[in-house]
Amino acid sequence: MDIACPQCGNPNLDVDEANSVVYCKKCGFAVKVDPATGNVTPISQGGPQPGSGNLAPPPAYKQPGIFGMDPLTFFMLGLSLLLLITFLYNLDLTILGVGVVLLGLIYWKIR
Ligand SMILES: [Zn+2]
Repeated sequence: MDIACPQCGNPNLDVDEANSVVYCKKCGFAVKVDPATGNVTPISQGGPQPGSGNLAPPPAYKQPGIFGMDPLTFFMLGLSLLLLITFLYNLDLTILGVGVVLLGLIYWKIR
């Protein structure tokens, strides 16, 4: 769990796995996470300002990547797309090879 507390910025949020609750020991902020849907229900806002609304993703959650994707995800997606296109349009395997090399280079740069 690498999510910082949206109320006080505490990077070490505690997780109550039995109750699917993520909470902050510092300020008392707590949310219930529905494991099936991923929905987050605020239980306790903690901190001095209640009802500050939406839970914006904390900055720690954002990772460098491409198009908002994890580099490896991008690589795998690109690879499967290349294979699909090659298959669909019956392209020369040289083109596929060049594409794979390009993908590999991009992956190497961004990972
Ligand atoms: Zn907190």
